[in-house]
Amino acid sequence: MRETVSKLVALQAIDDEGRGFHEERDSLQAKIVRLKELLDLMEEGLAEKRLKLEEASRWYREKDGELKVDQEKVNRAKTRLQAVTKNKEYMAMQKEIESLRKANLAREEEILKLVEAMDEFKASIASEEKKIAELKAEVSAEEKSNAKRLEELATFIDGINSRKRVVEKELKPALVSRYRRIFKARDGRAVVPVTANSCPGCNYACPPQQVVRLRKALTLETCRHCSRILYWVDPPEVEEDAA
Ligand SMILES: [Zn+2]
Repeated sequence: MRETVSKLVALQAIDDEGRGFHEERDSLQAKIVRLKELLDLMEEGLAEKRLKLEEASRWYREKDGELKVDQEKVNRAKTRLQAVTKNKEYMAMQKEIESLRKANLAREEEILKLVEAMDEFKASIASEEKKIAELKAEVSAEEKSNAKRLEELATFIDGINSRKRVVEKELKPALVSRYRRIFKARDGRAVVPVTANSCPGCNYACPPQQVVRLRKALTLETCRHCSRILYWVDPPEVEEDAA
């Protein structure tokens, strides 16, 4: 068991060595991921605005078509008016033309407002497009500048992993899985040396019987509280001064 424990300790030491590389890689990648998420969000917003503009354009075409039809009506009525001789009929037609003209005027105003709103929309889309282009450039610059370091880190991490595989091969697969589980659940500290008869991971005091077993190192001992694998290290001998 002593040998198994020392292999687990070695595994933990290799993982400790790799921690900094992993953290640096994760933080470099996280920054890119954050920027890309922001970019996605902005692109979603832009797509929504474009859709709204399209809707407004459709509505504009519809209203504009209606206006043209009504203007045509007014023109036709005016032509007919010239041929009318009876006074009563003339008055009635003129009234009709007037009401058509008023309706068209209201419609024209409506269309004008719509055109203004569409112009604002177009401007906002253009500024959004510019922001997105800038952010895209930032992301690609960031990716480019990180690429070299990420490559270096990948090489370091590969080295660490292959060293780990060598040690892992000498351990039972079930124990390796257990190590990984604890490693993941306990902040990357799966194997810890007993300190002052306690687990340094969670400060839980080992029962005296366990301390005895830990010192014998014939069994695999784990912390009863946090499940970390524990091992015993004899305290350094105090040199007695003969003088
Ligand atoms: Zn513990």
